[in-house]
Amino acid sequence: MINYSSNVSLKDFTTMKLGGRAKFMINLKSLSQLDQIFEWVKQESIDFLMIGGGSNIIWLDEGFNGLLIVNQLSGFEVENHQNDWIIKVGAGEIWDKIVAKTVLLGLSGIEALSLIPGKTGGTIMQNVGAYGQEIQDSLIDVEVFDTVTKKYQTLNRDQCLLDYRSSLFKNYQPRRYLILSLRLRLSKNHFKYHPYEALNHYFNDHKIVPEDSNTIRQAVMDIRQTKLPDPNKIANCGSFFANPIVSQEQFNNLNLDIKNKVPHWIFDHKIKLSAAWLIEYSGLKDFHDQQTGFATWFKQPLIVINEHGKTTKDLIKFKDLIVNQVFQKTKIRLSMEPEFLPN
Ligand SMILES: Cc1cc2nc3c(=O)[nH]c(=O)nc-3n(C[C@H](O)[C@H](O)[C@H](O)COP(=O)(O)OP(=O)(O)OC[C@H]3O[C@@H](n4cnc5c(N)ncnc54)[C@H](O)[C@@H]3O)c2cc1C
Repeated sequence: MINYSSNVSLKDFTTMKLGGRAKFMINLKSLSQLDQIFEWVKQESIDFLMIGGGSNIIWLDEGFNGLLIVNQLSGFEVENHQNDWIIKVGAGEIWDKIVAKTVLLGLSGIEALSLIPGKTGGTIMQNVGAYGQEIQDSLIDVEVFDTVTKKYQTLNRDQCLLDYRSSLFKNYQPRRYLILSLRLRLSKNHFKYHPYEALNHYFNDHKIVPEDSNTIRQAVMDIRQTKLPDPNKIANCGSFFANPIVSQEQFNNLNLDIKNKVPHWIFDHKIKLSAAWLIEYSGLKDFHDQQTGFATWFKQPLIVINEHGKTTKDLIKFKDLIVNQVFQKTKIRLSMEPEFLPN
């Protein structure tokens, strides 16, 4: 007999605080529950969906007529080698607690990913990145349950197809794999600071020399707490728009003023533009829309906050307003980073 709840409000399962209701919900705490869950799902002929902390999803108003599986799989194992340590983490562990533990152990590799909300499994979904680090830099492999073959499998880093805010799980085989745990390789004795503009400014201003992973963690936490709204106090799901990636030709065709001013980064013959700058250039920083109840954050316009919005339908109206105005002013079409569910 599985222990599920019925007719739960999905607002409690997203940091954006929107959405209808789920027919059923279960907390997955151990792998032994999986067989029973899939037996039941088959019997009832219902759809299912796994989430972590709900910090990168927006539920539709019509809700989810199926079983919501909330990943709470725990675990933190350390394999102690001379220079590289390997850690195995349960997908349901709160990500920032894992970063804190590794920093305490004197390990480096994920310290710049401090204070990213959500669970460990969620980090793989969009190859989370911040302040010059991405999860793919440390990932060894991911243990998954394949819901098509009903088999457990280990996928190595290459098989996860991690790229800028994308992965096998998000872009190529959505909803096929349940992420159960992952292994990371972290460095014990070889801390190296990889310069990153925002961190360079911070260290210069505070006269700090970055000498270990803890210096980076503390700096990142300080910057994030100053710049970003805390989702526990102000409903939001982080960057609402992804930085657009354009070809050299598209970049050359931009209006001269934008081309000269837009912050951009060149990689793999492509150019990543700052979506925050494009939004601000279009006059939409700290923009509050009374009609829908949504706004762009005054310190970082990439973030959409829910001030008094009630429906996802209104959020979509607000998103379209931003996308259309930015397109009119810059000829660049922004795309969303979080995902609407169910999709
Ligand atoms: C204030 C704030 C700041 C943020 N900053 C950053 C940032 O700097 N960089 C960044 O990259 N992101 C950032 N994010 C986005 C988000 O926190 C991350 O993407 C996070 O890793 C999502 O994890 P989650 O557990 O909340 O995933 P959820 O939102 O629960 O799920 C996201 C997607 O992954 C799927 N999923 C989740 N867990 C599993 C699993 N175990 N198995 C199968 N599918 C799963 C869900 O079905 C959904 O499709 C930020 C968000 C907020 C609110």
